[in-house]
Amino acid sequence: DTYHAATGRYDSMTYNRAGRSGLRLPPISLGLWHNFGHERPWQRQRDIVRRAFDLGVIHFDLANNYGPPPGSAEENFGRIFAADLAPYRDELVISTKAGYDMWPGPYGEWGSRKYLIASLDQSLRRMGLDYVDIFYHHRPDPDTPLEETMGALDAVVRAGKAQYVAISNYNAEQTEKAAAILRDLGTPLVLHQPSYSMVNRWIERDHLLDTLEKVGAGCIAYSPLAQGLLTNRYLNGVPDDSRVRTSRFLNEEQLSDTTMTKVQALNDIAARRGQSLAQLALVWALRDPRMTSLIIGASSVEQLENNIAALDNVELSDAELAEIEQYATE
Ligand code: NDP
Repeated sequence: DTYHAATGRYDSMTYNRAGRSGLRLPPISLGLWHNFGHERPWQRQRDIVRRAFDLGVIHFDLANNYGPPPGSAEENFGRIFAADLAPYRDELVISTKAGYDMWPGPYGEWGSRKYLIASLDQSLRRMGLDYVDIFYHHRPDPDTPLEETMGALDAVVRAGKAQYVAISNYNAEQTEKAAAILRDLGTPLVLHQPSYSMVNRWIERDHLLDTLEKVGAGCIAYSPLAQGLLTNRYLNGVPDDSRVRTSRFLNEEQLSDTTMTKVQALNDIAARRGQSLAQLALVWALRDPRMTSLIIGASSVEQLENNIAALDNVELSDAELAEIEQYATE
């Protein structure tokens, strides 16, 4: 089962520049938070990753704790990399993160230099890589000095273990401080990874994109489909293989009548455009040109293909935006 990447993989995909950096990403990237743990068939994971690369999705987003169990998504991606993607290493943008709970004791989470460097070393071993393209601090640490955390990011770049560094889940104020420290260290902040979707609009209230523009960093939003809520997945009940049934991160309580009425209305708007709701949700989340990329999840090749096909129709009229605005609420 030898893999040869599709020769036309760059024919229709475009790539956005991350802020004022040399890093360029597809408008839609693939995340391995869910669907890539040891509980999912490896061959299905492999099919999704291969199809993504064949469609020009060169960016794969991981973290130390993705699974379940924690670490297993990196292990599974490492197997796929060794089997299929190793010849294409220089075309790929692979990211990982540290910040959430990964191992016991005071050095298994948050933002100390000791934790970040040890965690990246573990991630590289699990994936069988010499370096990652992007290393993130996964969440702000209220107790460790930001200078120490940013110093650790600078250090991993100087050690050749990461090409670029980034932050996730920082607010605009914290972002501005982190970017200033990194700039002084000579390792600029390349990306911020916040949550963002039609039902989660905190970055607009926080003016995060203005801050990122000011410091020259890009934005790559996660969970743009609100974990599947903004798709056709729950329009007719809760399927057994859906995230609501298979993960603790999305609950049936989040599918309230009020929410599902909004989802249905958004689905109708999408249908009038000849798009799936997932496609509309993606196009909408990409509408600000400062949004470098969106990280989607996919539990099947079909979902992945459907999401990438959103890029065939990204124009939203003022009338459509106004109508969406009635339902794109938290
Ligand atoms: P999404 O909002 O894209 O949700 C993905 C889920 O939506 C899929 O697992 C699937 O659910 C459903 N879905 C996707 N496409 C379709 C479709 N076309 N039609 C129907 N259903 C669809 O993103 P995730 O929440 O998975 O997050 C994406 C990535 O973002 C993660 O893998 C990770 O890399 C990153 N992330 C980062 C975080 C951070 O703190 N930095 C936190 C969370 C995520 P189902 O499984 O039910 O089929």
